[in-house]
Amino acid sequence: MKLEYIKWVFVWLLAVWGCQSTGSTDTKLVNNELDSVDSSVIKVSDIETKVEDTFLTYVYVTFDDGPQKGTKEVLELCQELGIPATFFLVGAHLADPYQKDYLARLKADKAMELANHSYTHAFYNNFKKFYSQPDAAVADFLKAQEALAIQTKIIRFPGNNSWMTRGKFRGPASTKNVAIALDSLGYHVFGWDVEWHFSRKDARPVQSAEKMLTQLEKLRQKGTVTKRHIVWLMHDRMFKRPEDLDSLRKVLVNLKSNHSTSFRVASQYPGMNL
Ligand SMILES: [Zn+2]
Repeated sequence: MKLEYIKWVFVWLLAVWGCQSTGSTDTKLVNNELDSVDSSVIKVSDIETKVEDTFLTYVYVTFDDGPQKGTKEVLELCQELGIPATFFLVGAHLADPYQKDYLARLKADKAMELANHSYTHAFYNNFKKFYSQPDAAVADFLKAQEALAIQTKIIRFPGNNSWMTRGKFRGPASTKNVAIALDSLGYHVFGWDVEWHFSRKDARPVQSAEKMLTQLEKLRQKGTVTKRHIVWLMHDRMFKRPEDLDSLRKVLVNLKSNHSTSFRVASQYPGMNL
């Protein structure tokens, strides 16, 4: 009974410590702490499983379509708050010298992860044609990979919420052949669980900050592809206005203040094996 009590106190302490860290430091903290513990009382695997399963929700802040207007603002906000994010980039956007500069800023920050969102954004939003020509679609992704010098092999499909992780496909059937072709080249396709939508008219956020927070909170319990792992999609351009950036700040600050939240980048998602 006494040992059981000590075990739970210890697990609780680890959870509090773990959730104050971000990214890959979680496991490091757990392992460091274990050095001083009698391994006959608690096994490493028990603690890691309990910390991940019982206390924490992992939030993946992701932005699509950069570099573009708004990239600078969201990057600076994430830096200020110490929150890692994943940017799914479009190669063709480099034609603008200002956007090239944004790319350099993103690359300079090692807490941010860069990933592939195609070169032409699916033939400039011609989704039907793009996904019906797997060879051409794969070539477009590979062109972006090279032009943007992306190090991770993680792709987000333009216009479709498709997944190909752990060898399993999930998403619209029309995109399956492209996902299979990319999988055979060692790429992961990363979709999303929830989107902060934007107005097609002026790219401003549709949901209020409060509504977005409510949606995220609900996903702590259920409704995600992987339990307690919330992949959150946004677009850089939604936050180029100060008042909209304030909404993003409100949501991020609130999430960060919750000690059961830990932020991660895409390559840390379960099963990515990069
Ligand atoms: Zn996009």
